[in-house]
Amino acid sequence: MADVSNLEAAFERITVTDENDDLVASSTTATYHKSKGSLSTTVSLTGLAASSSAVNRQKLPLQKLAAANASRIVNASITKVTLPSQASQSRASADVPAHRRTLTDSVLYIQPSAAKQWSLPMFDIGKPLGKGKFGRVYLAKEKSTGFVCALKVLHKDEIAQGKVEKQVRREIEIQSHLAHPNVLRLFGHFHDNKRIILILEFAAKGELYKHLRREQRFPEWKAAQYIAQMAAALKYLHRKHVMHRDIKPENILVGIHGELKISDFGWSVHAPNNRRNTMCGTLDYLPPEMLRGAGKENFYNEKVDLWSLGVLAYEFLVGEAPFEDTQVMTYRKIARGEYTVPNFVSAEAKDLIKRLLVIDPEKRIPLEDVETHPWIVKYCQQGERAFDRASGGKFRSNLERES
Ligand code: AMP
Repeated sequence: MADVSNLEAAFERITVTDENDDLVASSTTATYHKSKGSLSTTVSLTGLAASSSAVNRQKLPLQKLAAANASRIVNASITKVTLPSQASQSRASADVPAHRRTLTDSVLYIQPSAAKQWSLPMFDIGKPLGKGKFGRVYLAKEKSTGFVCALKVLHKDEIAQGKVEKQVRREIEIQSHLAHPNVLRLFGHFHDNKRIILILEFAAKGELYKHLRREQRFPEWKAAQYIAQMAAALKYLHRKHVMHRDIKPENILVGIHGELKISDFGWSVHAPNNRRNTMCGTLDYLPPEMLRGAGKENFYNEKVDLWSLGVLAYEFLVGEAPFEDTQVMTYRKIARGEYTVPNFVSAEAKDLIKRLLVIDPEKRIPLEDVETHPWIVKYCQQGERAFDRASGGKFRSNLERES
């Protein structure tokens, strides 16, 4: 793992000098100096206590990135993109000579020092996939390889206005060093004078949040399989000393075979963290140790993600988060660990939730034990067999892969 403090420092020194305009070209030249401000999008406890309105599910602005290379951008051609599956792309790549390999191959195997200088004309841009607070995400195809990906276009002025440069830098830095089947890949990034563009893995089935709202709640086998995948992803992240800190359905995408992919690393940091007043993420998913105000006791570590995994398991099974209420009440319930599980949830699932939603972070069930918990073992095996059939056997469980 690269030394992030050095890399962050390097980003701090970056002056992004713009040379070109965006798709609708202009002649403006602007210079952005990255400031070393603290996270600006925080929720103050004082404000929280005073508020009684339930705005719990609002998506906090998670914005992305900054760029180091000043690559020249010209107008992009907008063409229709036909979509081969990511799996067939990887299969194909194994059979082709090195010079014809896909974007994934190059990105996976190229040395960082030889990083490719990407630019917009290298891509065919397809349909919009979604819109975030700071820009849009488009389906795209890298022209030379035909590799299908997602391009996230962030607007520099909005990033500057939102004072989220640091978050964006951190997200790029962290996510670009991660490679796991349940973590959304960030293959690279580039910028022009108005925008920063992230080259992301394409998650064909979109946001998990939408699936959950559509299905209301997931059957136990599916919830167990999802939790197993999230546990595998978190185990990988924690091994790399990265805590995500913002695990929730809105930040999870679904791949072509229905596999989950954690995204939105805007709030992730290297553990342990001794930030005191900073809170981030949706209140519903915040662990008690992050709710506390300033004070020397408020140091937290990667176990924050275990609490959020418990909230996620609950929401998968019940269709709503365990502490959902007005902000004040949610805060109180989280602080006391007060929740009830409906009777339709199995005893095994309840047991796992209970072991994750423990106020004392040190007493939460470790991820290794989540993966071997009876609920996961029982439903995961069942679910994954069904899943294998549904996907024509293309998908293997992460538990299998990891072992
Ligand atoms: P974001 O700005 O990350 O919140 O992205 C906005 C929306 O674009 C998301 O809610 C997704 O529906 C979609 N989206 C973002 N990234 C991807 C991706 N890599 N693959 C597919 N859809 C995506």
